[in-house]
Amino acid sequence: MSTLAALVPSAIPAPDEALRAEVRAFLSVALRSLPPHVRARSWMGCDAAFSRELGRQGWLGITFPPAYGGAGRSAFARYVLVEEFLNAGAPVGLHWIADRQSGPLILKYGTEAQKQAYLPRICKGEAFFCIGMSEPNAGSDLASVKTRATRTASGWTLSGQKIWTTNAHHCHFMIALVRTSGEPQDGHQCLSQVIVDLSLPGVTIRPIRDLSGDSHFCEVFFDNVQLAPEALIGDEGRGWEQVTAELAFERAGPERLFSSIVLFEEWLAFVRTAQGRTASATRLAGRLVAQLAPLRAMSVALTEKLVRGESPVVEAALVKDLGTTLEQDMPAAIADDLFSREAGEVPAELLLTLNHVTQVAPSFSLRGGTRDILRGMIARGLGLR
Ligand SMILES: Cc1cc2nc3c(=O)[nH]c(=O)nc-3n(C[C@H](O)[C@H](O)[C@H](O)COP(=O)(O)OP(=O)(O)OC[C@H]3O[C@@H](n4cnc5c(N)ncnc54)[C@H](O)[C@@H]3O)c2cc1C
Repeated sequence: MSTLAALVPSAIPAPDEALRAEVRAFLSVALRSLPPHVRARSWMGCDAAFSRELGRQGWLGITFPPAYGGAGRSAFARYVLVEEFLNAGAPVGLHWIADRQSGPLILKYGTEAQKQAYLPRICKGEAFFCIGMSEPNAGSDLASVKTRATRTASGWTLSGQKIWTTNAHHCHFMIALVRTSGEPQDGHQCLSQVIVDLSLPGVTIRPIRDLSGDSHFCEVFFDNVQLAPEALIGDEGRGWEQVTAELAFERAGPERLFSSIVLFEEWLAFVRTAQGRTASATRLAGRLVAQLAPLRAMSVALTEKLVRGESPVVEAALVKDLGTTLEQDMPAAIADDLFSREAGEVPAELLLTLNHVTQVAPSFSLRGGTRDILRGMIARGLGLR
């Protein structure tokens, strides 16, 4: 009960809510030539020029202090931005990780030199980061990572392999969870995080093609990569604690509710037409919105906790599990509706959008931690394990 009681309903403060109209107006112009099946990629869509333009608008690293190029705004301001980006299907993939978790991680654990080196570039859309956690045989069981950074006279030597690394082939840096001492069976102990410049000799990046034909995640190999001493972020041996805090940022946001939203909006637009409106479609629309509204309220309540500087790990797992269930239910329910109609009645662009979302939907409950793992965390939070 204490976990659920902790998600007290909260409202986005008016000054942050005021950002919405400005962002929406910008996006309606910037994205006008992108068809829905492209916008449906949303935070998997990549456009470096678009990311830099958001930087010029002051919308990247909006929560970072002005001394590092940010606007010093609260997590609510970022929430409004992110919600608008997702609802519009903006191609935000390149800067997404840096803005959401690498930047905040550097801010929390980095040295002054690391903050100066990376944060202003993140705010300009000039430094893209990826997450180097998963490895072959170390996905859910993250504590068993084998990639190793060994101390040398001049810094660190990095060897090993990461997998499923989103956008590694487009990123400048990875924050990698690595073993700095001990053996894989030592579990949480002996893990640290290092910032890896992906242009260094010894780094090989191989994109992996997914079901939809896109290549957005990669295998990344490290073959005796030489890192400077200052590649270490935070304290040596505290990597597990740092990664856990990082995952709360990863699981708490609206991207765990809105991955299918462009499809939902397209379908709603069809259902609003005389040809598209049916009693069963209207009921379905009501059911989906009725599920989305409380989830969104829970996600805003989580943001309140981030604003207070808390790390709501269990609550974030709860919202991600429920949110991704809805995100996966949407394309399935919309497909049932559309395929119950006469052939030729449904707009082709809507079918293209459905096709893309259906193909990527299985990944929604894998990325960022699988459903089984999240439910284990929720059970522990409820005192059941
Ligand atoms: C689209 C996408 C993007 C990704 N991007 C990144 C990224 O940028 N960086 C990164 O580091 N990783 C990334 N990942 C990897 C992702 O975090 C892992 O796929 C995920 O953690 C699961 O690990 P695994 O694939 O090794 O599966 P496994 O851990 O092998 O799990 C296989 C199955 O067994 C179940 N299972 C495993 N352990 C338990 C248990 N203890 N109890 C009950 N069931 C269990 C799982 O739920 C799952 O169903 C991405 C994955 C996807 C799909």
